[in-house]
Amino acid sequence: MPDPRFKVLTSASSSGPGDAGRTGSWRVERPVIDMHRCVPAKTGKHACHLCWLYCPDNVVSKDLEPQINLEYCKGCGICAEECPAKAISMVPDEDFLEGGGDE
Ligand code: SF4
Ligand code: SF4
Repeated sequence: MPDPRFKVLTSASSSGPGDAGRTGSWRVERPVIDMHRCVPAKTGKHACHLCWLYCPDNVVSKDLEPQINLEYCKGCGICAEECPAKAISMVPDEDFLEGGGDE
């Protein structure tokens, strides 16, 4: 029987979404996942999920198509660094503002 202490694999960080408050407008970049590259999205199997594991703010879901809660994502880029499939790009947040940040 497996040791119950190790039943759930999770990140060493025990923070929860929003522990550091809402991100608001101060995030500089946001992570965007390319589902064509993402391993669980591509294979339809729960695999990898390193973005979920390493996110220090616990804002990545462990779905077949991982979702990021941008309300609390700090834009640190750790998920993009750790993704073995290079499926996550850090994109300037201003690109998502009305007007596309061209002004
Ligand atoms: S780390 Fe990359 S490949 Fe793995 S689940 Fe996250 S986005 Fe998908
Ligand atoms: S950028 Fe940082 S806070 Fe946002 S999802 Fe990735 S690891 Fe989590």
